[in-house]
Amino acid sequence: MNEHRSDKRIGMLRTWIQWGFLVWMVVIGIRFGLFVRHFESGGVAPFFSRPAGVDGFLPIGALASIKSWLATGVLNPLHPAAVVIFLSIVGMSLLAKKSFCSWLCPVGTLSETAGRLGRRLFGRNFRIWRPLDLVLRSIKYLLLLFFIKIILFDMPHQALALFLKTPYWAISDVKMLHLFTRMSSTTMVVLGVLAGLSILYEGFWCRYLCPYGALLGLTSPLSPFKIRRDTTLCSGCGSCSAACPAQLPVHDRHVIRSPECNGCLSCTLACPEKDALRMGLFQRKRPLPVWLFPVVALLVFAVGTGAGIVTDTWQSSLGYDDYSYLIPQAPFLSH
Ligand code: SF4
Ligand code: SF4
Repeated sequence: MNEHRSDKRIGMLRTWIQWGFLVWMVVIGIRFGLFVRHFESGGVAPFFSRPAGVDGFLPIGALASIKSWLATGVLNPLHPAAVVIFLSIVGMSLLAKKSFCSWLCPVGTLSETAGRLGRRLFGRNFRIWRPLDLVLRSIKYLLLLFFIKIILFDMPHQALALFLKTPYWAISDVKMLHLFTRMSSTTMVVLGVLAGLSILYEGFWCRYLCPYGALLGLTSPLSPFKIRRDTTLCSGCGSCSAACPAQLPVHDRHVIRSPECNGCLSCTLACPEKDALRMGLFQRKRPLPVWLFPVVALLVFAVGTGAGIVTDTWQSSLGYDDYSYLIPQAPFLSH
């Protein structure tokens, strides 16, 4: 009984952490918007320092920087936090599955909320016809393959080195901001369609389209944490599979090894049998405390990003004068 109470508390804790992180991202976004406005106004609007965490929204640039770093031994100084955050998130998936998707990612939080709204409106989330679902799920892996091919294989080192020196890369964070603050009608339609589909089909973006999630899914099977079912305690009720947002057949497996499992713990929360279903380490028989998995996941992220900050691998090398020159040019820059 106590175990079940702590499972419920973990469910609530996950919601609090997800929303806390989302609010933090919104604060970072607003602060960055104010930073940009200062330069766009020619210095008239008040100055706010640039929050380096905004680099977390540049995962493709991070991949390009890592390739250049490995080739030259020098980390590109324009967006070092992009690399730090990217590696921290990959580290999370290596140790604690796709925990970033289910515990921190703001898009994942909004996607879950849209799914919940769908259940309120229609009494359930719809499911896509299984064969079509399988085809659609491959899209995110194809998108990931596309980016990996372009950046890691097709782009020569010299071209990459040149790109990482361009004004476009220097203010790619500003371009990203403009995607939302100066939204084109096409972007609005795309976001509207994705929001609508996420209300109808739970986790539509994450399940079918997110290449970041696809990458984390491919590294997550290496995680020692896995959902494990004790067949001697399981009654076969199927509540776990019904609760799984990734639509995994949890009630039918001893261990969940699927790259689609994001470590949300919804299945363990839904299980009515004590200790029948746990997020466990290796083949360990004794159940682990339910809090261990999220603590490991969040620690990896905190230690990774903290290491970036204390080693001074965080703030951009661009200074006030650089931004004064570059930001007003942003609308006219293309790569
Ligand atoms: S198997 Fe469990 S932890 Fe994994 S996605 Fe499904 S509900 Fe979440
Ligand atoms: S919810 Fe628990 S008891 Fe029911 S099938 Fe899943 S593991 Fe077994």
